[in-house]
Amino acid sequence: MSEQDDFRRTIVYGEAALGHLKKNEVPAYPRHYELWYTYAAGFNHSLNKAINEIIRSRGRLTTAEVGTVYDQFVSPSRLGERIEEVGGKLSGEIGSVMSMLDSSIQTTSGYRSSLDDATRELAGDVDQAKVKHVVESLMSVTKKTEHANRQLERQLADSRRQIAELQESLEAIRYESLTDELTTLANRKHFEHSIERACMEAKQADQPFALLLTDIDHFKKFNDSYGHQTGDQVLRLVALAVKQNVKGQDIACRYGGEEFAVILPRTNLRQGVVVAEHIRQSVMSKELVKRSTGENLGRITISVGVAVWRPGDTSQEMVERADSCLYAAKRAGRNLVRCESDPDVKLDLHVA
Ligand code: GH3
Ligand code: MG
Ligand code: MG
Repeated sequence: MSEQDDFRRTIVYGEAALGHLKKNEVPAYPRHYELWYTYAAGFNHSLNKAINEIIRSRGRLTTAEVGTVYDQFVSPSRLGERIEEVGGKLSGEIGSVMSMLDSSIQTTSGYRSSLDDATRELAGDVDQAKVKHVVESLMSVTKKTEHANRQLERQLADSRRQIAELQESLEAIRYESLTDELTTLANRKHFEHSIERACMEAKQADQPFALLLTDIDHFKKFNDSYGHQTGDQVLRLVALAVKQNVKGQDIACRYGGEEFAVILPRTNLRQGVVVAEHIRQSVMSKELVKRSTGENLGRITISVGVAVWRPGDTSQEMVERADSCLYAAKRAGRNLVRCESDPDVKLDLHVA
């Protein structure tokens, strides 16, 4: 279901993006297309606000304005660029630590050869003047070495601080790359990793895990009546209901637009259905009130499909079964939980 949904929705956004490019007479470079696609999808509110303001005052966006708006609202959030920046700095720091190590090695070996020289000079006939000379030159090299070592220590401490900061930035980027911005749940990429891992762990421990797929009921109508921004608030609310009803090692993800998935490790079908019921009831118990106007928007409901891991299952087979259960819940009238053992769930047979 989600693939068909994605197909229909994204084609609409794509067509709208091309329409905007033509209307504004802007070349269809990928970044220009991306900007208008993001605009058509409507999820980047500050971008849409900026574009709408320009359109309101001047009727259209010039190519230059498209570039500026892109740089300001689309490209800063690009993880790839940030990874590149942090990576560049990290490699710079590694380079300077390497050259510090080189100079430390040089200092040490220089000091060693001064000591060797002194030993040699003191091995033959020595008079007071010679001893004085050797001691003086040793003191001078020792002082220089000490100075170089202290400088090195300072530089190393500085690099250590910088590297620790860069490590934190990398950790933040990693977190962001696996998190859905709107709901702060795990994103689709995280879901794909997690379900693969869950399948592997289930096989190793020979213990099932459950998968919940949820889809908001009649959400299109809700968006059409109250607007996308209010729709987004509802997505946050449903995400919160999902989060509040899972715990520990459970992984709650935004699977697609208005679909959420939950992976419940070491959970059987019956236990999975209990969690799904809690989420369903928690969503329908919330009365929606538009903050800006106080308008009562009624209640929202979700349908949930629950599948459980079977030996030999691939992640795709599990998702398909959970999806079939979700479909059955929609067919049976929505605001329902359906699982694999329910009589009205017809699962497609898989031939290996
Ligand atoms: P059904 O009960 O059969 O699920 O009906 P539905 O209207 O919810 O149908 P469907 O699941 O196909 O609708 C998906 C709609 O969800 C399309 C779009 O309007 C909305 N949507 C998808 N992603 C987002 C999003 O990120 N934000 C907002 N506001 N709406 C979204
Ligand atoms: Mg849907
Ligand atoms: Mg829906």
